[in-house]
Parts: sequence; structure tokens; C-alpha cells
Amino acid sequence: MKRLIVISGSSGVGKGTVIKEFLKKHPDFKLSISCTTRTKREGEEEGVNYFFMSKDEFEKCVQNNEFLEWAEFSGNFYGTKKSFVEKTLQNGDELILEIDTKGALNVKKIMPDANLIFILPPSFEELEARLRGRHTETEEAIQKRLASIKLEIENSKFFDFRIINDTVENAVKQLENIIL
Ligand code: 5GP
Repeated sequence: MKRLIVISGSSGVGKGTVIKEFLKKHPDFKLSISCTTRTKREGEEEGVNYFFMSKDEFEKCVQNNEFLEWAEFSGNFYGTKKSFVEKTLQNGDELILEIDTKGALNVKKIMPDANLIFILPPSFEELEARLRGRHTETEEAIQKRLASIKLEIENSKFFDFRIINDTVENAVKQLENIIL
């Protein structure tokens, strides 16, 4: 059985970029594709970034016990399908999950061998600026995100490793040191 790496860090912290750069250099690692009920952002593709579904469809999957873990975040649902994780690991691929803090801690309870890595922003102010710079959300949504980001940073003390994303290059190096 191959390793399961779980990476968390609030949205806007740039973890997507760090993971993408890592994957470019290490194609033997696969990134898990989650299910979500949130609306597609520009440039996102079905089956690439997420499997987009309605709340009804999501609820059916919850009832059928199809998720390894799931969470509500800013009014939307996000979940990792058990079948996706099992298939990838059985294929002999290393798998990276990019999920929220609560989800990561839930995975650790079910799969204690999973490595939990948290990506921190250089500062909270910088994270807020990055989030606003994206111009994709309303002020209310941004305030909601900022509140949950504070909670996530608090929860990161339960993670196995923490990385500070000052530059993408540095963060990838730290990630390589931990994973390889
Ligand atoms: P975004 O809407 O910015 O794509 O993601 C919002 C948050 O949901 C991020 O913190 C992201 O890591 C998290 N997330 C994405 N997929 C999953 C998942 O399958 N499970 C959980 N628990 N969180 C997820």
C-alpha cells in the first residue's frame, strides 16, 4: 500500500500552486479529486479540479456512506470519495489529498498512517490581501473565509508537519524534504 499525504491550508494561501509545482516534478504522485457543491470558478473543469454536484446528489453520497470524509465550508459541501482513494492506492500510486483541516484530522483518525502537512501563509495580513486580490467572492463570503482561516491555523498544531509558503520555490523544497 502506498502513502497517503494530506495537505491543508486555507484557501488563498497558495497551496494549490505549491502542490501543482510539486506534482510537475514528481508525476508518480496523484492528486485526489474531491466532490463539491460549490459553483465552478472560471477555468475550473469537471473531473479535473472537482466533481461538481448538487446538494441532493451530495446528500445521497453521504447517506450511502461513499465519503471517506466530508465537510461544510463557507456554506458549501466538500467530500473525498472512499472509492477514489482506495483505487489510487491499490494502483500503486502515492496520493495527495488537498482538503480542509477538519477533513484532514478526520482522515488521520481513520487512516493513522496518513501524513498531515499544513501550509501556512507568511502572515495573516498577506493571506487576507491574496484572498481579496482574487475578486471572486462577496465581502460576506470573504469575512466567512477569514473566520474559518483563523480556526484552521489554530487547528494546525495537530498536524505532523507545517510549511510556511513565503515563496513557492521554498515551500516546494520543504514539501520535498518531508515527503521524499
Ligand atoms: P475551494 O472552494 O477554495 O476550492 O476550497 C475550500 C476548502 O475546501 C479548501 O480548504 C479545500 O482544501 C477544502 N476541500 C476541498 N476538497 C475537500 C474535501 O474533499 N474534503 C474536505 N474536508 N475539504 C475539502
